[in-house]
Amino acid sequence: AKSAGGNRYELADAEADARAITRHGLTTALPAALDRGEFFIEYQPLVHLGDGSVHGAEALVRWLHPQHGVLGPDQFIPLAEHTGLIVPLGRWVLEQSVRQAKVWQERHSDAGPPVRINVNLSPCQLTHPGLVSDTVDILERVGLPPSSLCLEVTESALIGADDDLLKPLRRLAEMGVDIALDDFGTGYSNLANLRRLPVSILKLDRSFTQGMQQFPADPVDLKIVEGIVSLAHSLDLAVTVEGVETGAQAEQLRLLGCDTAQGWYYARPGPPDRLHELALVDATG
Ligand code: C2E
Ligand code: CA
Ligand code: CA
Ligand code: CA
Repeated sequence: AKSAGGNRYELADAEADARAITRHGLTTALPAALDRGEFFIEYQPLVHLGDGSVHGAEALVRWLHPQHGVLGPDQFIPLAEHTGLIVPLGRWVLEQSVRQAKVWQERHSDAGPPVRINVNLSPCQLTHPGLVSDTVDILERVGLPPSSLCLEVTESALIGADDDLLKPLRRLAEMGVDIALDDFGTGYSNLANLRRLPVSILKLDRSFTQGMQQFPADPVDLKIVEGIVSLAHSLDLAVTVEGVETGAQAEQLRLLGCDTAQGWYYARPGPPDRLHELALVDATG
């Protein structure tokens, strides 16, 4: 018994060591990766639930690591936050995404409302003093209207946020940048608290969408989402739903009054030209 347990322990231990080594290796490789251009961005469309037209896209960063292949953000964003690289990396993501949105807008100048771009902000970027000036600088250099940009901040990053933390977001919101509350519903925030946040969009977490796999969905799940949507709308907030994987989910979320949606049902995150094709298909009916 001892040896079996011992073996298992050693195995688990070795795996933990391997993870620690990988983590250490990734952490030390991060700064050079930015210089070497190993990061790239995939874009996932956001669509209007009413008519399925493309509203915009969310930028999702990836790392093409020379040994490990493509790494997802969950594997390196925490490390980048820990080391502070998230600030230059986040600035790079913002600039690339804003440039890409400008390209889409130029190609689609006659095909409906301008495509918008959503970019994730880490809590570390929120507290960085250059956030507002860097954002203004990028928008001006590229020539993208502030109203075409949406910055996504997680609900948990803003729980208990004081005025110092909210000030830069307020400044950006006053300029016309949309602020979205990401992963909404996972952070146990006080709903009344929403009124003091400079947000204009709620992004309902995927966990709510998952409750709508069945048609009809669980009545309690339906009630909860219905309640959130009506509260959001009464506060003049738009509601985006994440993680829509089936037509049944899309239809129920549309009936509940959600405004826009994102998920594999519409498209997985992909290269920028894919979004161009989707938007073109959409524009020509
Ligand atoms: P998020 O902001 O909640 O992004 C949505 C995640 O859900 C993405 O994972 C996306 O690929 C995935 N997703 C989209 N549709 C579906 C679906 O229908 N089903 C399922 N199961 N998943 C779906 P991804 O790309 O791995 O990103 C993970 C997280 O990493 C993001 O969560 C975001 O918090 C963070 N992240 C990504 N890019 C950046 C960035 O540039 N900066 C920062 N600070 N964080 C980023
Ligand atoms: Ca997001
Ligand atoms: Ca999210
Ligand atoms: Ca999430």
